[in-house]
Amino acid sequence: MLWKYATNVNKYRYCCHSLQVSLHCSRVVDMASKRKSDNDSDEDKKPVKKVPHWKGGLLTSMHDSDAQVYTDDDVIIIKDKYPKATYHFLVMPKENIPNLKSLKKENVELLQHMHEKGKEMAEKADPDLQFRLGYHAVPSMSHLHLHVISQDFDSPCLKNKKHWNSFTTEYFIESEEIIEELKKNGKVVKDVNHSQELLKKPLSDSLCCIQIGTYSTWNMQIGT
Ligand code: AMP
Repeated sequence: MLWKYATNVNKYRYCCHSLQVSLHCSRVVDMASKRKSDNDSDEDKKPVKKVPHWKGGLLTSMHDSDAQVYTDDDVIIIKDKYPKATYHFLVMPKENIPNLKSLKKENVELLQHMHEKGKEMAEKADPDLQFRLGYHAVPSMSHLHLHVISQDFDSPCLKNKKHWNSFTTEYFIESEEIIEELKKNGKVVKDVNHSQELLKKPLSDSLCCIQIGTYSTWNMQIGT
């Protein structure tokens, strides 16, 4: 009887020990799987496929028939994906010209053609609206693009000071000025640091020139 009791106690102890081991083991397994799932989520954050860099987005849009509004042997005109005004087009050469710095004297004719086609597009869009045609001194996107933008700046995509300054300060260089510089010097050179400072200019420096109606439609985060 005593022996039976002792055996049962031992069995009980053995069971408890096994239970503890199993609990411990399951905790270890849980921790390991948590670590694994943590690692998995890190893995998930890594891009599985090499996606094209966002700077190349214009090259994708150039070949998107929904974005294209005009094309000929030398240029493609697309609608800007994040228009900063009612009408905002980008005129791009079919030839691979990454930026203003890559321009050579022999490209003068191409720039003139881009300008002409941009003007025609503006006229077609709305002959009553004022438009400007120009290049950003330090473009964010790759592949040369001429902005053709109506001057109402009526767009939910115009969200901050940088956007505003990029179209209203000398950061926006008239297309004709670029053509003249290329004709004269055979190249286009811009001071990157000076240009980037222009984007930081206070809004008050240029707000005087917009219409109140336009201003009220803005979703601008003043000062950002
Ligand atoms: P920037 O390089 O500063 O002269 O301006 C680039 C312009 O491209 C901006 O006005 C953007 O709204 C526009 N944009 C950015 N990504 C795309 C895209 N994938 N397709 C069309 N336009 C774009």
